[in-house]
Amino acid sequence: MEKEDFYKTLNVARNASEGEIKKAYRRLAMKYHPDRNTGDSKAEEKFKEIQEAYAVLSDEQKRAAYDQFGHAGVDPSMGGGARHGGDSFSDVFGDVFGDIFGGGGGGSRRSHVTRGADLRYNLDLSLEDAVFGLETKIKVPTSVSCTSCKGTGSKSGKSSICSTCGGHGQVRMQQGMFSVQQTCPTCHGSGSEIKDPCGKCRGTGKTKEQKTLSVKIPAGVDTGDRIRLGGEGEAGDHGGPAGDLYVQVNVREHNIFTRDGADLYCDMPISFATAALGGELEVPTLSGKVKLKVPAETQTGKLFRLRGKGVKPVRGGPVGDLMCRVSVETPVNLTAEQKALVEQLEASFKTGGTKHNPQEHSWLGGVKSFFDKMKS
Ligand SMILES: [Zn+2]
Ligand SMILES: [Zn+2]
Repeated sequence: MEKEDFYKTLNVARNASEGEIKKAYRRLAMKYHPDRNTGDSKAEEKFKEIQEAYAVLSDEQKRAAYDQFGHAGVDPSMGGGARHGGDSFSDVFGDVFGDIFGGGGGGSRRSHVTRGADLRYNLDLSLEDAVFGLETKIKVPTSVSCTSCKGTGSKSGKSSICSTCGGHGQVRMQQGMFSVQQTCPTCHGSGSEIKDPCGKCRGTGKTKEQKTLSVKIPAGVDTGDRIRLGGEGEAGDHGGPAGDLYVQVNVREHNIFTRDGADLYCDMPISFATAALGGELEVPTLSGKVKLKVPAETQTGKLFRLRGKGVKPVRGGPVGDLMCRVSVETPVNLTAEQKALVEQLEASFKTGGTKHNPQEHSWLGGVKSFFDKMKS
């Protein structure tokens, strides 16, 4: 079944602010919460959809990925662990249902299993690779879940309740008149203590590794695009799901073409004779050379459009064009003989009055009237 648009699910505009999204989520989550709709499978389904939409739209990175690539950008089936983790989600969940459904859950809800951080990898691409796509391998330094203790940090795989805080993760400290609640210094809030730390990861549950990943870059990407590799980010804490890896694309400058969206631009010098008499040129495109007919009396700055020789955008839409801007090259390193020929040519132009270089004459006319006005 086609998945509904997340913005539609939450009934908010595409440019809705964080606050608006949170508000819409609270309202809908209250309405469809299973505690209020016991036995109603439709409400349950709807509740799940709302949760999923909120998990994505409340996360700045995931929302950006979703805006760019739609469901494909954030689809949990593309890899990675549960999508409903995340601190912002449990935040809202806690304060919505804490208020309305009378607290419930108590301390047992808090879990020290947390999702790993998302990572970003900057990938430089040539224009050709960005336009045609490629499959490449990248090396990512990352912390992965320790293989010998399975991420628990403990040799035996068991952790005991923290002796400092008794498993609460928080301790009360007396500060003058006040009693202040603080994160437990022994277990850093996890509530558990490892008595037999794993030798490989020294009890952290994670080890540093270089991993090699295969990345498929879709054809048509441009600077600023991101490709999400679900579950390839930092390992989670205490066996929690891994974060995601975002491959950030940067397209290097090309020595012939510049890109503007789907269109490519190139500058092409042509000889004085070709410009004056017309001719046929070979124009480079990303898919080989093509012939371009240049009409007689072509001036510098003239743009020739080669339809469909641009880029096919990654998010769909028509293939762009290649725009060739010609500039007439003034001949250099002239021999005495060539100089004489140019002088001869120029002299012959003079006999034609204004008809061989009308631009120059109209420009000179403009300059003259400018100075005449200044004098008067
Ligand atoms: Zn270990
Ligand atoms: Zn503790």
